[in-house]
Amino acid sequence: MRQALLEHLVLPAAAALTPFKTARYVELMERSERTSLREQRSEQMALVRELLVHAHRETELTRRKLDGAGIHPVDVSDADAFLRVPITSKDELREGFPDRQVARSHRGAWLRYSNTSGTTGKPLMLVQDVTDISWKYASILRSRRLAGVPEMAHQVRLTPNECQPCLADGGSPAGSFGAVRRSSDPAALFMLLERQVMNPLFLRRRMLPPFWPGGGPVTPVDYRRVVRDLTRAAPEVLTIYPLYAMLLARFLRRTGVEAPRASMLLDFSAALCTPRMRAFLTETFGQRTAQGCGGCEFARYGASCEHDEDHLHLAEQYCYVEAVRADGRQCASGELGNLVVTSLRSRAMPIIRLEPGDVGRILESPCACGRLSRRIEHHGRIQALLRNADGRWVTDRACWDALLCLPGLALFQLRQRTERIYDLDLVLDPGAPLDRTALDAALAGLLGASAQVVERTVEGITPEASGKLQLVKSATFEEFRPAAARARRVPTN
Ligand SMILES: [Zn+2]
Repeated sequence: MRQALLEHLVLPAAAALTPFKTARYVELMERSERTSLREQRSEQMALVRELLVHAHRETELTRRKLDGAGIHPVDVSDADAFLRVPITSKDELREGFPDRQVARSHRGAWLRYSNTSGTTGKPLMLVQDVTDISWKYASILRSRRLAGVPEMAHQVRLTPNECQPCLADGGSPAGSFGAVRRSSDPAALFMLLERQVMNPLFLRRRMLPPFWPGGGPVTPVDYRRVVRDLTRAAPEVLTIYPLYAMLLARFLRRTGVEAPRASMLLDFSAALCTPRMRAFLTETFGQRTAQGCGGCEFARYGASCEHDEDHLHLAEQYCYVEAVRADGRQCASGELGNLVVTSLRSRAMPIIRLEPGDVGRILESPCACGRLSRRIEHHGRIQALLRNADGRWVTDRACWDALLCLPGLALFQLRQRTERIYDLDLVLDPGAPLDRTALDAALAGLLGASAQVVERTVEGITPEASGKLQLVKSATFEEFRPAAARARRVPTN
């Protein structure tokens, strides 16, 4: 009843009467991704040009970048011309904030500010106007629709870190309705809306605390409590960090404790879920899965559909995603590349050709669901991309897929010293003996037969400052990045 009311009455009414046009944008995305790739591309290029013209006129960052490269925004009429627009690093979004990045005409307007908690150094602040926020929510609701669950399904999140709304000075009055309400900062309105209206009423979203604090010591996880909390919360959609799901699955298999169930869907977010992990988790939890990719800058720019859980449909109306080679050219369909993402609706703080630090393959082949949007096979962080002893590139996805489901191994961290020499930390699963032969075969397949691996057994893997686990650390990935982007460091995650 609540869902039907929100979906069929409240959201359409909001779209008709207020600037929150989320319902309209979901329909627009759905319609657009059933048109030919050529039509979708031509719509995207029109949006790209409009964004470039706006950002060039209104922000110092884009004006300097385009002028420096000798590009006039009106001339950017196709994907190849857009490749000449310099890549933006996350550092460039931080330096000189907000004067260099926030569009002149948007200053002082009603804007949503957000930052990611727990990252190192100065947090990355993002600024969005109402249209951009409506698109952000639309991309989330679209992912539900793709997965075949109601857009307003009740969600519980169990992930390491979250992109949180904050005040314009980066402050975030903790949990207090009063403190936020008393603030004279217009950004407080969005904090209130999100905390008091969108999350509890519309998305019915609840967050559970992460397993470990970012960058802190690894402490034992009370899995029984986690199971209890999840069972009590009884979500329809459980959005979970895939590595938490793997650890929880090992606990369930070891102890025979009944798996907590989401009544509709297990939804993976914030990291990879490889085909083998997915099979393992589907079997353990006894339910269907979906996955999405995105971030603070662009909510869900990719989401899997019911027909294929390993490839994510790009939200082509919302973001333009490119896979690029080290020489800066565009990858062919299915070729592994460095991902570069443009948020097509970002006007308050334009996000143009951002390098989030991920690699993947973009596929142009059609999907059985009938949508014609391109799909992405996500391969994880670029800092995990190894050039191995045979000179071959090996991705995060390949390493996770080969190692995380091995009998007896709960977690690992593989650190590359050179193409031939690696350190490997192993966290053993107390529920089963380590399959040594399988581990050796997997390592030889990933790293090359001549690679040397120095192993040790450890109690746990220390999370990064963001709270996420970086299981593979490469010493060779820089050469995979476009040469022009290498002067800027790739963001950690
Ligand atoms: Zn599909």
